[in-house]
Amino acid sequence: MGIGSLFRRKKKDKKEEVEECHIDINSDDCDGCEKCIIACPNNVLMLKDDITAVRDPQVCKSCKVCMAICPNDCITVN
Ligand code: SF4
Ligand code: SF4
Repeated sequence: MGIGSLFRRKKKDKKEEVEECHIDINSDDCDGCEKCIIACPNNVLMLKDDITAVRDPQVCKSCKVCMAICPNDCITVN
């Protein structure tokens, strides 16, 4: 807490503005195999109601590993 934490928060907000990542998941084609969830190095994805959902888009690095591994071509990252 205190001044130090205020500075850290400001810096984080600035970083989030710069690193924009958009993840689209076609939930109609997702069969919940979890391959993308397991493969994501940043723990961005999660299973929700048996389909993949985005847990935290702020930590996505746009590496597109999830796109590459999905057998149903459900994921688009840009
Ligand atoms: S693009 Fe990379 S970091 Fe982002 S959700 Fe997919 S695997 Fe995770
Ligand atoms: S890899 Fe594709 S089909 Fe499997 S859970 Fe992820 S989005 Fe769904």
